[in-house]
Amino acid sequence: MVEAHLNGVRNALAAGWRALNRGGSALDAVEEAVVVMENDETFDAGRGSFLNHDGKVQMDALIMDGATLRAGGVGCVERIANPVCAARKILSESPHVYFVAEGAERFAAEHGIPLCRNEDLIIPREVERLREYQSHLEQHRADLFAPTISHDTVGAVALDAGGDIAAATSTGGTLNKAPGRLGDSSLIGCGCYADNKTAAASTTGWGEPIMKLVLAKWASDRVASGNAPEWAAAEAIDYLKIRVNGHGGMILLDARGRLGIAHSTPRMAWAFKTSLQEASGITRND
Ligand code: ASP
Repeated sequence: MVEAHLNGVRNALAAGWRALNRGGSALDAVEEAVVVMENDETFDAGRGSFLNHDGKVQMDALIMDGATLRAGGVGCVERIANPVCAARKILSESPHVYFVAEGAERFAAEHGIPLCRNEDLIIPREVERLREYQSHLEQHRADLFAPTISHDTVGAVALDAGGDIAAATSTGGTLNKAPGRLGDSSLIGCGCYADNKTAAASTTGWGEPIMKLVLAKWASDRVASGNAPEWAAAEAIDYLKIRVNGHGGMILLDARGRLGIAHSTPRMAWAFKTSLQEASGITRND
């Protein structure tokens, strides 16, 4: 699915750029970019997400504003096609930062976000993937404790004309996860972080080790101490391996527009655009 991933990240980039071009904020750009990938069945976010042990889609998302440190997160939501939009509503319209499960769905509905049926988010490819996984559980035993099956969480970071940065991450989590399991993606500082004084980060990969290291914040803090995001992202992914034997990927952007992309997964699709340059690709470690 290499082409599908490339198209997906390029479409997301175009949406984020459109938001910035019309004078939108970095928050608008990351939300709109992530919506495109949630709507794209290629990725593990929104419709097309991995299924949990019970055969349901259960999603987590976070969005964070580097200017104010305001954040909105949802965890274990089942009936929201675009969890990042619910997260954005929490950021802008709630005194709270984080909602889970039915409470998150209720908040979303009360703030104009339509609820769907969980079945609307399930696609045949994922039903088959779960069936195959569950019928070869013995073979996948090691994977239960260190999932290696395709990490397809989506994320975006952006810097706007006002000099503010933002980040967003959205995921269906890991294949065959226990119902109620929350990953790193929606946790502040783990799967997503943004602070104008440091950097904006979004991560993908095996969530449990990423959480233990609060990896997005770990990398952002290293940018604050003078390092380039390119170096800090690579250091974070190395640290993930060395300290807790984890694996994953990260995009990292500071308020000077310096970008870092690093991953220890076999491949990661990415795309970026500045006023001077545009690029996209799937880098490989294998
Ligand atoms: N980090 C996500 C999680 O553990 C999964 C992924 O990135 O694919 O929920």
